[in-house]
Amino acid sequence: MGRSESQQVLSTLPSVDELLKSPEGTAWLTVFRRRIVLNAIRDIIASTRDALLSGRLQSFDRDALIRDIDSRIRRDSSFSLRRIINATGIVLHTNLGRSVLSERVLQNVVSVSIGFSNLEYDLEAGSRGKRHSHTTRLLREITGAEDALIVNNNAAAVLLCLNTVARGREVIVSRGELVEIGGSFRVPDIMATSSAILREVGTTNKTHLYDYTGAINDQTALLLKVHQSNYRVTGFTSDLPVNKLAKLGRERQLPVMYDLGSGCLLDLKPFGVHSEPSVKEVVEAGVDIITFSGDKLLGGPQGGIIVGRKKYLDPIRKNPLARAVRIDKMTIAAFEATLMDYLDEARAVREIPSLRMLFQPPEEIQKRAGRLASLLRKRIKGERFFVIRDVSKAGGGSLPEIEFPTFAVSLKPGNISVNELERKLRAGTPPVITRIKNEALLFDARTIGDGELSAISDAVSGVLQPA
Ligand SMILES: *Cc1c(COP(=O)(O)O)cnc(C)c1O
Repeated sequence: MGRSESQQVLSTLPSVDELLKSPEGTAWLTVFRRRIVLNAIRDIIASTRDALLSGRLQSFDRDALIRDIDSRIRRDSSFSLRRIINATGIVLHTNLGRSVLSERVLQNVVSVSIGFSNLEYDLEAGSRGKRHSHTTRLLREITGAEDALIVNNNAAAVLLCLNTVARGREVIVSRGELVEIGGSFRVPDIMATSSAILREVGTTNKTHLYDYTGAINDQTALLLKVHQSNYRVTGFTSDLPVNKLAKLGRERQLPVMYDLGSGCLLDLKPFGVHSEPSVKEVVEAGVDIITFSGDKLLGGPQGGIIVGRKKYLDPIRKNPLARAVRIDKMTIAAFEATLMDYLDEARAVREIPSLRMLFQPPEEIQKRAGRLASLLRKRIKGERFFVIRDVSKAGGGSLPEIEFPTFAVSLKPGNISVNELERKLRAGTPPVITRIKNEALLFDARTIGDGELSAISDAVSGVLQPA
């Protein structure tokens, strides 16, 4: 295209003002914010002009221009962080927001946050109170620990504890526990940031009592144990059981800390899980400081919980870093309501969504998968939907060795690739996140809510048989 030709095409490009005054422009302005409409028109006109000038585009089509502006306006008018449907079967999916909170927990967050609260006000004394007081009693009751504190997340909890107890001094850790959890939590890095000095002992696969004993010196501040999270050393291995480490700490008058990672408040043995000690068991083993996440197996909001002996928690609470990683009232409200459910274990498994999804009977998952399959079959002709058996994972580095038997709806689409279908469902409204296995798209019914079945069938139908 010659220069004069492209000039001619450019001159037919509508101006911002023309588009604002067009019927479409008027319609946009009645629904959307003026600033969003204006920016969208400007941006799309500018990018169309650039494309014409550079020759990437030979001519433009008014309808296409309007469609582009319309979708930009819609994108910019919707929130970036929004609800999605998790059909992956992974319950504690770090990328999908980890734990899901119950309506009752959220009602407490709303009722505390929509007005003023006694966050730091002692209603009996009529004077300043303590923000941490609202959750300490419940945590002590549930874990049997002397004292408790909640901070922003478990990474912050570990950092804060190390910085308080071992700044400038040595912390003894087994080489088998120098793990990276993902999302850049690496034990050696956290140690360096906390100003504690890492003293590695043992080997990757074996660490013995004598390794710890041999490393203790007058610079030793702490004996640390770290949960290996989603990593396992198998075969010829041994590590020092936590009660033996606690005993060593007592004999040498050194505090013992355990970063439990997930931190389960329930005894999971009745559910067939024998690998994960409850926090209460770790307290009973004699560990002085225990840290764990609020939004992994506990099923609460994001937070890092520290429980243990008052003697160590008092200075931890007074560390200026504690102020930097403190939690807000919404988190406290969500924790208090979640922890209240743990006073009755049967209730916890029923009411806490993460626990319910993990430990629901397979027959229930099968029924839900069956209902989804029949909805899809009714709605979409010419495709075959099967209910299949599969396994799902807990996620979030929790219970990595356990495969939870599950049921999923499986689809091998006829007229579109499985990757394309996965992508389109992910880009839809609401986004539906699925997983692909053996060339089939799977909708794992473990993490799908009963109220989400029709939205999934709408989404699949929207992609496979567009109007
Ligand atoms: C998950 C995990 C952490 C980090 O916890 P966050 O709450 O995500 O900050 C730290 N240590 C271990 C062992 C973990 O599993």
